[in-house]
Amino acid sequence: MSTASPSNFIRSIVEHDLAANKFAIRADWAKIRTRFPPEPNGYLHYGHAKSICLNFGLARDYGGVCHLRFDDTNPTKEEQEYVDSIIDAVRWLGFSWEANGTSHQFFASNYFAKLYGFAEHLVSRGLAYVDSQSADEMRASRGTLTQGGRNSPYRDRGVEENLRLLREMREGRHADGTHILRAKIDMDSPNINLRDPAMYRIRHAHHHRTGDAWCIYPTYDWAHGVSDAIEHITHSVCTLEFQDHRPLYDWFNEKLAEGGQLERPLPQQIEFARLNFTYVVLSKRKLIQLVEEKHVEGWDDPRLPTLVGARRRGYTPEGFRTFCDRIGVAKADSWIDLSVLEDCMREHLNEVAPRRIAVLDPLKLVIENYPEGKVELCEAPNHPQKPDLGKRPLPFSRALWIEREDYQQVPAKGYFRLFPGNRVRLRYGFVLECTGYDKATDTVRCNYLEDSRSGTPGADTYKVKGNIHWVSAAHSHTAEVRLYDRLFKAPHPGAEDGDFLKDLNPDSKKVVRAQLEPALRDAKPEEHFQFERHGYFVADCIDSKPGAPVFNRAVTLRDSWAKK
Ligand code: ATP
Ligand code: MG
Repeated sequence: MSTASPSNFIRSIVEHDLAANKFAIRADWAKIRTRFPPEPNGYLHYGHAKSICLNFGLARDYGGVCHLRFDDTNPTKEEQEYVDSIIDAVRWLGFSWEANGTSHQFFASNYFAKLYGFAEHLVSRGLAYVDSQSADEMRASRGTLTQGGRNSPYRDRGVEENLRLLREMREGRHADGTHILRAKIDMDSPNINLRDPAMYRIRHAHHHRTGDAWCIYPTYDWAHGVSDAIEHITHSVCTLEFQDHRPLYDWFNEKLAEGGQLERPLPQQIEFARLNFTYVVLSKRKLIQLVEEKHVEGWDDPRLPTLVGARRRGYTPEGFRTFCDRIGVAKADSWIDLSVLEDCMREHLNEVAPRRIAVLDPLKLVIENYPEGKVELCEAPNHPQKPDLGKRPLPFSRALWIEREDYQQVPAKGYFRLFPGNRVRLRYGFVLECTGYDKATDTVRCNYLEDSRSGTPGADTYKVKGNIHWVSAAHSHTAEVRLYDRLFKAPHPGAEDGDFLKDLNPDSKKVVRAQLEPALRDAKPEEHFQFERHGYFVADCIDSKPGAPVFNRAVTLRDSWAKK
């Protein structure tokens, strides 16, 4: 993973800063520091993969480090389960926060004491105050996009009184909602974020890491930028909705640096467009609804756009990294077609996945001129473009399984696979001639041409149009195979009337009992294969048993949605 990603406007900023020696005075071994700051209140999704690839990719390519920081300032919605799954997902994508012999995993909650000290500092300089208005009064006095706000009657409280009240808030002497700490900036600012934003709210709530140590919790705007500065982050990359928060991000850090509380150079916030996909919903609220109402089978359902789901589906970290490089980084929101991600998965799986034979909709075929009990071994390459991956034996015998769609009693126009009187080639095997079909046993009858075996002299004197796959019935094994497709059938689920559930694809999961070639019996969980003519599959990591794997389809061989 040493290859650098293509250039983009964020990379240009980093290169410019490095050329100007902006961070040299700090004498940090890391040339730049970025961070990925998830709130541990849910599972990561495809959109987070973009942020992860971007932040860790910058650090990798410019001799820096990317911090994994849990932005766990909100006590009621966060859980250890999410922390663990986020750690797994970032590692799975191939990134590490270990560098220079230490871990760069952090928790915003570890800065609660520091942040509180900074808050007292701002209060003592007259830059923050305790407001005792009700939430409704505060809302009413905040103004609108076109109209400035009104000062709170508590805005001119003296420093001593503010400090006393803040300490009482911290000590737990006030009920939730009775007071808040606000930055004293400008109630008339055209930017609503600067109209004396909240810094602390009283919440008598248990926190998953700090327990009951705190009953005031910092707001996102107060905690986020200051945490960046504490960690000496150089480039704080975030999504566009924070653009209007940037003046506030800078205000807090500037004031603290002026007061000698933070070291310069201060971090720079840079915004990029969040990733939106067609045929996908990424909003946390909608994902929760899909799971809770059981439209899917859990957070790791292969149809969900979560990273645990993607992994289970057989998507690969390499595919995600290629995708992130390919789509680049934009300054304006846009939609990426899901097929772009699917193509990246296909490309990587085409490279690495060994080829195997699976008959997904089995129909029995008997070769009447082939001796009972005889078995011979045909050979099939593990990868057509990679001869070094070798070949494997495919046992051939009198009774085979073929795909039901490879036989037609009365052939449609242009159909050139099996029908009475027609010849086809069995891949890596012989040419067959169909003699009929036995309805009672649902079996296709054929004769084989003994001197037509693939790879033997004269085999290609037989010119046939059809080439079908097969497994020997005596040697194949039955397995559950899940054919996953897109979860939504509309490019913008819910666009019509807001009801995104109406756009669920009823065929997003189909389960079949397939017949698989012998080599697939030993597939290990998370091993990938191309099932010839069908697509890319992975052995399911939860339901597979030793000797009895279950397979999930990651992606079809070709985009079947493009023509719809
Ligand atoms: P919430 O709606 O709860 O804030 P979130 O999706 O923003 O959820 P966070 O845990 O705050 O989740 O996100 C962590 C990081 O991932 C943030 O830096 C955020 O900007 C980034 N991120 C989240 N969604 C996307 C997306 N769709 N595209 C790119 N980056 C994203
Ligand atoms: Mg967020």
